[in-house]
Amino acid sequence: MDTEGRRQSSNIEDRRGMRPVRTGVGLSLGGVLFLVVLSLLGINPLPFLGVATKAPETQMQQTNEPYQESAQEAKLRQMTAVVLADTEETWTTILGKYGVQYVEPKLVLFSGGVTSGCGAAESAMGPFYCPLDQKVYVDMSFYQDLETRFGAPGDFAQAYVVAHEVGHHVQNLVGTAKKVNDLQRRASKAQANELSVRMELQADCFAGVWAKNAAQSRQLLEAGDVEEGLNAASAIGDDRLQRQAQGRVVPDAFTHGSSEQRVRWFRRGLETGTPEGCDTFSAQQL
Ligand SMILES: [Zn+2]
Repeated sequence: MDTEGRRQSSNIEDRRGMRPVRTGVGLSLGGVLFLVVLSLLGINPLPFLGVATKAPETQMQQTNEPYQESAQEAKLRQMTAVVLADTEETWTTILGKYGVQYVEPKLVLFSGGVTSGCGAAESAMGPFYCPLDQKVYVDMSFYQDLETRFGAPGDFAQAYVVAHEVGHHVQNLVGTAKKVNDLQRRASKAQANELSVRMELQADCFAGVWAKNAAQSRQLLEAGDVEEGLNAASAIGDDRLQRQAQGRVVPDAFTHGSSEQRVRWFRRGLETGTPEGCDTFSAQQL
């Protein structure tokens, strides 16, 4: 990507100098995922947080010294801020055509662990979007994971991840997230999973829509970027991840879509450049 001298978003919230301090009952990664699933299913997770709401389970504490970032981290932060700024331009323009005002999400940079509006989270979860506080959470060590663990190097692979999370924010803004929650509440587990896959593939497609607009309107993309993005979409498909984790593939447990599906929808967004091209919900074939 050609990010030199571009506008950087002012919506970056840098919490890298903060450490979660456990003061009561902590939430494990499983606990957080459970809460996220509950809220995706439209179930208010608060009753399950009985203990936590009485006594805060984690608090973030600013360490005395501000976070000292390396030159490499500064570069990644700047890239992230440029991509976020470009998604702001893209979605403000696109949603404006539909009379929808784009509310810019915050992007929280953290290291190690973080407390989000959806509960405490650890870096192992990967980047995520919390609809309750409308913030995208990124530990930039995931960029390194993309390259070394998932074999998806390149700044555009990283940008694709940010654009995917912003895609979830768009789904939240336009009400798709709520509609899907309502449907999932009445669905079987397999059906609810399939709805999750359709949500995820739409976020991939929205990432493609962003990329198309960034390339066309602001010449942000360079040769090889699209291939980096497609490679990343393929690398973090559920089938690939499952095979890595347990050596076999269980389609019913897919929540993000297979590598092939993720590539197909990212490409669809890239080609059409409009959200209409991203109707994963009425698509016969995903
Ligand atoms: Zn997602």
